[in-house]
Amino acid sequence: MLDARTISLVRTGFKSVVAAQDGPARLSRSFYGHLFAQHPDFRALFPASMDALREHFVMALGYVFEHLDDPDRVEPFLEQLGRDHRKHGISGAHFRAGSSALISAFRTFAGNEVWTDEVETAWNDALTVVSDAMAVAADDDELPPFWSATVVEHQRVLDDLAVVRLKTDGEIPYFPGQYVSVQIPQRPKLWRYLSPAIPSNPYGEIEFHVRRVSGGWVSPAMVTETAVGDRWSISPPLGGMHVDRAIGEDVLMIAGGTGLAPLRAQVMEMAQRSNNPRVHLFVSGTYPCDLYDLDTLWQLSLSNPWLTIVPVTEQLENPWWYSGTPRELPWGMHHRLHGAVGKVVTQFGSWADRQIQICGSPSMVRTTIYALRKVGTPMEHIQHDPF
Ligand SMILES: Cc1cc2nc3c(=O)[nH]c(=O)nc-3n(C[C@H](O)[C@H](O)[C@H](O)COP(=O)(O)OP(=O)(O)OC[C@H]3O[C@@H](n4cnc5c(N)ncnc54)[C@H](O)[C@@H]3O)c2cc1C
Repeated sequence: MLDARTISLVRTGFKSVVAAQDGPARLSRSFYGHLFAQHPDFRALFPASMDALREHFVMALGYVFEHLDDPDRVEPFLEQLGRDHRKHGISGAHFRAGSSALISAFRTFAGNEVWTDEVETAWNDALTVVSDAMAVAADDDELPPFWSATVVEHQRVLDDLAVVRLKTDGEIPYFPGQYVSVQIPQRPKLWRYLSPAIPSNPYGEIEFHVRRVSGGWVSPAMVTETAVGDRWSISPPLGGMHVDRAIGEDVLMIAGGTGLAPLRAQVMEMAQRSNNPRVHLFVSGTYPCDLYDLDTLWQLSLSNPWLTIVPVTEQLENPWWYSGTPRELPWGMHHRLHGAVGKVVTQFGSWADRQIQICGSPSMVRTTIYALRKVGTPMEHIQHDPF
């Protein structure tokens, strides 16, 4: 456990670096520069384009330093980060090398006046704790760093959205609601998180719903270039969104776009049980055509009376460029509601007696949390994946 003075010195140092002009980008460039200069062989572990990695690196550092005095939060985060890095071929020794490169990067920034012996000791102590937690978690993990899987079906359900079904070489032991990291042959070394849309099963079947983010490096290739027979790599599961049966509360789930996937996997798993809490699942999109999975959800709700599906769209009509057949709501389904999903959900009250899961793009999750906070929903009832 680090003392308060060490934590304060490290936090102050980090804040002054990221507050500087172009600080986060300079820090990450300097870190990777030192790392590859000290260990040239590490460069081969990383993708040609380091942009996304650099951005995530500074965000993760910020989270760790902010919560250094909160072991219940920071330790699981570091352990997950350590395990997640195994897919790149990274092991415990690499983390310790990383901590030394990070100290070099901070020293470069700070200059001699700020970089005193006390500051150096504080950084050494803090980064030893951080790198040890990641190294131990990575080295102790018994799961393989990733599984291989073959694409068996690729369905363009919308111009910018594909449902991809794969068969994995072994069963991946994930809980519904968790996510995994995926690498595709068209974009080697560029791993992206995806949430399985069906529960894990002994046949190794797994399904992803992928939205093409315009200008993105990987999702456009997943949506437009994937072919049956492609071999994907899938890392061990991460995250912990789940329905807590112990607390006995009913459930509110709010999905935006492909954020439906982990919620769908959970209700599918619940459908295999005889006793379930009530679940209200709001499924939202910008246009009516974005509600691509209503038929399956409707079928599920017909045989599971604890499940209510409520469709929500921001726009009343499909966009002019949509050339598919207009989707009719299944007969008997709750009528479609209109507006931003957070606003729509909170028209029904604060849902204070529910456990709540929100899943969608970062902006959808943020605005929905904001809407719930405004009506007094207890924030500790809300679960969502990290952005
Ligand atoms: C826990 C988790 C689970 C996820 N599950 C899924 C899933 O099941 N299905 C799915 O389609 N995606 C999912 N994502 C998003 C996915 O991991 C990628 O971020 C997304 O596909 C974009 O990747 P890219 O390489 O195309 O874009 P990048 O090259 O990584 O990014 C390009 C630009 O797009 C922005 N961007 C990235 N993602 C989004 C977004 N969702 N909306 C708007 N702008 C964005 C970036 O900030 C960047 O500016 C999940 C993300 C997380 C963190």
